[in-house]
Amino acid sequence: MSPFWSPGIRGLKAYVPGEQPQGGGWTKLNTNECPYPPSSKALQRIAEAVDERLRLYPDPEGTALQQSIATHFDLTSAHVFLGNGSDEVLGHVFLGLLKHGLPILFPDITYSFYPVYCGLYGIAFERVPLDADFRVRTDDYRRPHGGIVLPNPNAPTGMALPLDGIERLLQQSPDTVLVVDEAYVDFGAQSAVGLVARYPNLLVVQTLSKSRALAGLRVGFALGDPGLIQGLDRVKNSFNSYPMDRLALAGAQAAIEDVEHFERITRMVIHSREWLATQLQVMGFECLPSSANFLLARHPAHPARALLAALREQRILVRHFEQDRIREHLRISVGTQPECERLVQALEQVLRLGAPANM
Ligand SMILES: *Cc1c(COP(=O)(O)O)cnc(C)c1O
Repeated sequence: MSPFWSPGIRGLKAYVPGEQPQGGGWTKLNTNECPYPPSSKALQRIAEAVDERLRLYPDPEGTALQQSIATHFDLTSAHVFLGNGSDEVLGHVFLGLLKHGLPILFPDITYSFYPVYCGLYGIAFERVPLDADFRVRTDDYRRPHGGIVLPNPNAPTGMALPLDGIERLLQQSPDTVLVVDEAYVDFGAQSAVGLVARYPNLLVVQTLSKSRALAGLRVGFALGDPGLIQGLDRVKNSFNSYPMDRLALAGAQAAIEDVEHFERITRMVIHSREWLATQLQVMGFECLPSSANFLLARHPAHPARALLAALREQRILVRHFEQDRIREHLRISVGTQPECERLVQALEQVLRLGAPANM
């Protein structure tokens, strides 16, 4: 801590991203990236955008990308807000739409960035416990609040709330914003995008980082009523008018338009997820039913930390959260089929040898 720090940041608890190991040889199943390459059309458009035009600022609104996203989701450009990754979009959402005085609500087990934004922007929050099976109980959100944030599917459980549950939340709280973070929706959950035109209090946030294999490009977006989008524009234009660089705009547009590639890679991930879930269960793991590109699993006879360490020795990275209720779980991103097979072999070996009980 330096005396030069502003008082407001001294007590901040920042988000800790999953490890990005240096050097090769790792099987990386810890940050939910897509194991397949992005659309070759996207890569080509990025390459074509590398020229002398980089001396010019990009289009501050990202008009062409906005239009492609609008067309893809059957909405208009006025329903689309773009950001430098959906984390940035969410940051603007917390400041612009969720700071009203009353605490906002999100599940007790959820994306760990949400409390971080609350700390940064001074927003009160309450954690609403998921039920014993890690499901969202919509009735528990019937209490005074300043807004609700919900990943669907939830992270790190992978479990999805059906669309009628989302609609129930919208109807029971018409005077506050419901933010549905659909980072993983393309791996098998129902999207709430179709409700955007009917509910002025619904904001859906998506990202190109997971299902479009472009985590390195940093592109996210929000879809909502033009009134909500204008509020977000105000925050964005008070922070950074050009969040989307020229290369990101070019690549993202091609990625959104390459539906065939997107459908192929999400299908492959879903296929491997189902295979991996079955294999884990055969080995005695309890696995939550996932609609995402990861599995949350625990083994009743093997502590999570021991498994984590044993996998690490085999240069396989998975994620562990030091948090009540999921302390004994591991979150495993679904890799390519060979990567999933490698994980299963490693786990079979670890379970056979027995991981040390109290690491
Ligand atoms: C990965 C993730 C995001 C952030 O994605 P970006 O890479 O910043 O677009 C947002 N929400 C959840 C729940 C995520 O898992």
